[in-house]
Amino acid sequence: MSPSIGIDLGTTNSAVATGTGGKLRIIERATGQRLLPSLVGITEDGERVVGEEARLLAETTPELVASATKRFIGQRWTPELAARSRQLYPYTLVSGPTEDVRVRLGGHTMPISQVSGMLLSELRADAEDLFAAEVVDAVITVPANFTDAQRAATREAAEIAGLNVLRLLNEPTAAAMAFGLSSGFTGSALVFDLGGGTFDVSVLRIQDGVFEVLATAGDAYFGGDDFDNILVQWLLSHIPDAPTRERLTNDRATVQHLKALAEKAKRDVSSAEYSRISAVLQPESKHGAVPLETMLTRPFFEKLVRPKTEHALAIVEQSLLEANLAAGDIDTVLLVGGMTRVPLLRALVAKHFGREPDARVDPDEAVALGAAVHAAELVEKRGKTLLLDVVGASLGVQVAGGLVKSVLPRNSMLPCRATERFYPGRDGQTRFRVPVMQGEGTRAEDGTRVGEVVLESEAATLRRDRELEVTFAIDVEGLLSVSAVDRLTGQAQEVRIDARTALGQSETTQLKAKEAAHRDAQHSVDAEERRKNRHARRALHGALIAVRRLQRELLHVARESETDDARALSAELAPALIDAELVERSGTREEVEAMTQRLRALLPAS
Ligand code: AMP
Repeated sequence: MSPSIGIDLGTTNSAVATGTGGKLRIIERATGQRLLPSLVGITEDGERVVGEEARLLAETTPELVASATKRFIGQRWTPELAARSRQLYPYTLVSGPTEDVRVRLGGHTMPISQVSGMLLSELRADAEDLFAAEVVDAVITVPANFTDAQRAATREAAEIAGLNVLRLLNEPTAAAMAFGLSSGFTGSALVFDLGGGTFDVSVLRIQDGVFEVLATAGDAYFGGDDFDNILVQWLLSHIPDAPTRERLTNDRATVQHLKALAEKAKRDVSSAEYSRISAVLQPESKHGAVPLETMLTRPFFEKLVRPKTEHALAIVEQSLLEANLAAGDIDTVLLVGGMTRVPLLRALVAKHFGREPDARVDPDEAVALGAAVHAAELVEKRGKTLLLDVVGASLGVQVAGGLVKSVLPRNSMLPCRATERFYPGRDGQTRFRVPVMQGEGTRAEDGTRVGEVVLESEAATLRRDRELEVTFAIDVEGLLSVSAVDRLTGQAQEVRIDARTALGQSETTQLKAKEAAHRDAQHSVDAEERRKNRHARRALHGALIAVRRLQRELLHVARESETDDARALSAELAPALIDAELVERSGTREEVEAMTQRLRALLPAS
C-alpha cells in the first residue's frame, strides 16, 4: 500500500501526519519538531530556506522571508492589498500576469502558490524520510470559508510540489474527523478554529463514522494577527512624544519589531500572569533609537482584546442559528488553532456552552491528523467514514447596480448545482460576460470576484431568442465549474471562466519541474546521514525538554519553600538551555551530540 499523508497548510505553522498502516501520527521533522513554521526565505546567495531556517534568516534580513502567505493565496492583487501587507509584513507583494499575487524576496519574485508549494515540498520530504519511499497522495486542508480561487490556488501549490491531491478538506471538518474517529464520539460537535489569520466555526453531527456538517461560518480575515495588532497599538501608545510616535508608526522595521514583541507578550500571558516587555526600537530611518519598557498583565490583555473575542462569539452564534441548534444542543466543543490557547477564549467558549471544551484535542495537530485519517481512508478504500460537507462561501452573480444575486448560498450541501437564465444585453450580441462573486453580503464590493463566465456564440440572434441557461456546480471540494445551454436550440454553449487569478498551465509545469529538480538535489544527500541526523536531533530535543521540566520544578520548589538553593540550581541550568536551543536550531550533528551529553549530565540520575 503506498503511503498517504494529511497536510495542514497553516498561516503560521504547518503539519503533516499519516494514517497509513492504521497507525495515526504526526510526522516529526528531522529536527524532532512536530510543526513547520510556514516561512520561506531566499538567502542572499539565492538558496532556499524553509521553516526554522527561514525564521533564523528573518532575524537578520526579514525582507527576504515570506510569512503568512496563506493570507494572499488565490487573491487578486490590488494596490490596497499591497499597501495593507506592507504595513504588516516586511516583504513586498507585486502583481502577476493574471493579477495573481506574487511575493518579492530580494531579486526573486515568486507566485504565492509557489511559496506554498515549497512548504508542501518540505512536508512531503519529511514524510518521505519517514517512509523511505516516495509519497505523492495527500489530503490538504483549507479554511472552510476559502473561496473557489483560494482552493484552486492551493491545488496549484500541491501540483507544483508534485503531490496528488486526493482531496481538499475543510480544516474544522478535519479536526472533527480526527476527534470523532479516535474517541468514537456520537452527537453534535462545534469546532472553533482560530489560527493566526483565519477563523472558522463548523457545527457537525457525528454518528457511526458519518460526519455531517450542518453549518459553517467564519471570518477569513480574523485571527491571532488581529490580537497582535491591538497590542502593537497599545505599545505605540507608550511613546509620549506625538511626532516620534507618528514616525515609528510609519516605520516598517519598527512595526515588525513591535509585532514580534506583541506576539510574544500575548503568548506569555497565556501561561503567566504578566509579561515584561523591554526593547530598544531602532527605526530604519536613521532617527535615534527609542527605548520601550512596559508590562502586560493578563487582565489588561483581556480587557484590550475583549471586543475581538465578542466578534468570535457572534460568529459562533451565527453558525448555531444556521444549523438550527442552540448552544445547549451541542454535546462537545473542540478548540483548534494556536489562538485557542488564550485562556480568555477558552473561558468564554466554556461559559457560552456551559461546558468545558474537550481536552482530548490538540489545537495544533488535530487538523493534520484528520486529514491523514481521511487520506488513508481514500487510499485504502476502507469505507468506514462518510463525509457530508457544505459550501463555505456563498456563490452569486453580479447584477445591475453593483448588487449580487445569490446562486448557491453558504451551507448548501456539497456537491450542489444551480441553474440561472441569462439574456444578452442587446440584439446581435455574440459574447457576453457574467461576473461571478463569492462571499457574503449583497453588494459586489463586499465579495471576492471569482472571475467572469464568458458566454460566446457565433450565431448572433435577437436578444429574446438567446435565452441561456447557465449551471453553476460546486464539487465536494468546493471547486466551481460552469456550463451553459442555449434554451432555443438545446445546444451546449462554450463557457470560459476568465480573469481567474490562477497561473497558466505552462508556468505551473515549469515550476513543477523546478521543484522536482530541487527535490532530487535534496534526495542526493546521503539518506543514512539524514537518518542519523534525525536521530541525534530527536535525542537532543528529548534532553532539552527534560532539562526544561527540571528547571520548572526547581522554580516551583523555590516559590513554595522560598529556599534560595532551588532558585540557584535553576539559574545554573539557564546557560546550557540557551546554548542548546541554538545548537538545536542550527548545530552540526557533532555539536548536537555533544550538547545532548552536556544536558544529560545536568539531569539527576534516574
Ligand atoms: P495557527 O495558525 O493555528 O498555527 O495559530 C497561530 C496563532 O496562534 C498565532 O497568532 C499565535 O500567536 C497564536 N498562538 C500560538 N500559541 C499561542 C499561545 N500559547 N498563546 C497565545 N497565542 C498563541
